[in-house]
Amino acid sequence: MAITAIKGFNDILPSEIEKWQHIEKTARDVFGCYGFSEIRVPIMEKTELFCRSIGDATDIVEKEMYTFTDKGDNRVTLRPEGTAGVMRAFIEHKLYAADPVSKLFYMGPMFRYERPQKGRYRQFHQIGAEVTGVSDPKVDAQTLTMLSHFFSELGLDEPSLEINSLGCPECRPAYREILKDFLRQKLDTLCEDCQRRLDTNPLRALDCKVEKCKVATADAPAMLEHLCTACDTHFTETRSYLDLVSTGYRINSRMVRGLDYYTRTTFEMITGLLGSQSAVAAGGRYDGLISDLGGPSVPGIGFAMGVERIALLLDNAKFQTSPALFIVALGEEAQKRAFCLSTELQRAGVSVEFDYEGKSMKSQMRRADKLSCGYTLIIGESELASGVAPLKEMKTGNQFVIALDSKTIAQELKS
Ligand code: ATP
Ligand code: MG
Repeated sequence: MAITAIKGFNDILPSEIEKWQHIEKTARDVFGCYGFSEIRVPIMEKTELFCRSIGDATDIVEKEMYTFTDKGDNRVTLRPEGTAGVMRAFIEHKLYAADPVSKLFYMGPMFRYERPQKGRYRQFHQIGAEVTGVSDPKVDAQTLTMLSHFFSELGLDEPSLEINSLGCPECRPAYREILKDFLRQKLDTLCEDCQRRLDTNPLRALDCKVEKCKVATADAPAMLEHLCTACDTHFTETRSYLDLVSTGYRINSRMVRGLDYYTRTTFEMITGLLGSQSAVAAGGRYDGLISDLGGPSVPGIGFAMGVERIALLLDNAKFQTSPALFIVALGEEAQKRAFCLSTELQRAGVSVEFDYEGKSMKSQMRRADKLSCGYTLIIGESELASGVAPLKEMKTGNQFVIALDSKTIAQELKS
């Protein structure tokens, strides 16, 4: 029996690749305008990097990591997200010494052991961006503006931006206690997970997807009402900068992120088009992460977008490219000529297809049609003799004769 791929691990087929490349190119172009450079870090890191950064009591570390012991008895993990590895590299290579403000982006596969469904896979792809070195709310507003800009550049009205503040080590501990007291009163009505993590990670109850937890926490106290003065000012200013440049957003005071390192501004790009996989992008500020990982005390903010989910929002039909020309050749000599002509045209930057096997005219035309070629050129014995052949524009059916000369043809197709 043929071997199949691992469950939750997908192939990205040629029929989808144009769309993926378009998403990636749009990210490179848009992020480039805001001064971001690409960084590529390993797909596998020491397990402790993720435990320390993402947090032991998070879903990712508790349940979702692909962790192995390698042949040298080292505990290693396939990266479940990008920020930890990028910050590890940032610290290891002292990137902060070269420039106090660093703007990095990355793209590539991530791995989480989750239940596969539409928009949720075990190997999936993220494009992410990180800014370190500045805690000014202008950076928060700019990061969010860039994220929104990216989606509008893709021509998408969805997803829309939701923001919140998760406070800082000054104000969150007190809020956690207030929330814990609230949750304790509702303990019986919470799901098992929320009951279990009441002490270790009570905030998760606020975005638990279980219906009875949603009901139980409907009027739970919100972090936004318990921010310290500095966090409150930071959030207000972030909003005012978003308003200044007309970046739309909605405040969602129940948003908590599934990673422990977030502080202050947190955000998600949400869509109603993908069922329960509603988050297309998510991120936040992480002012304590770099020092927690042994680096200098430098603030940071970033986000990651799920490429599969973005691809689901984009129309497939818009991303099919087809050859500019199909050369239909009849007879051995004509086939030779088709081979030479197509090579010359390809070398001149024109995409060309022809038949390799001496098929009938009908079957060659059928293939040209199937490939949605822009033009067909038909060469038989009489065309070889006269040096001109009919060139037909497939969309309009217009046809005229053209010299069997690659320069002339290339010029015609490019005009
Ligand atoms: P969710 O609530 O859907 O599980 P998350 O909070 O775990 O998302 P993040 O860790 O913030 O997601 O990752 C950022 C983005 O990466 C998500 O918004 C989503 O688009 C994408 N993503 C996360 N997990 C998966 C997955 N298993 N398959 C596909 N995309 C994913
Ligand atoms: Mg998740």
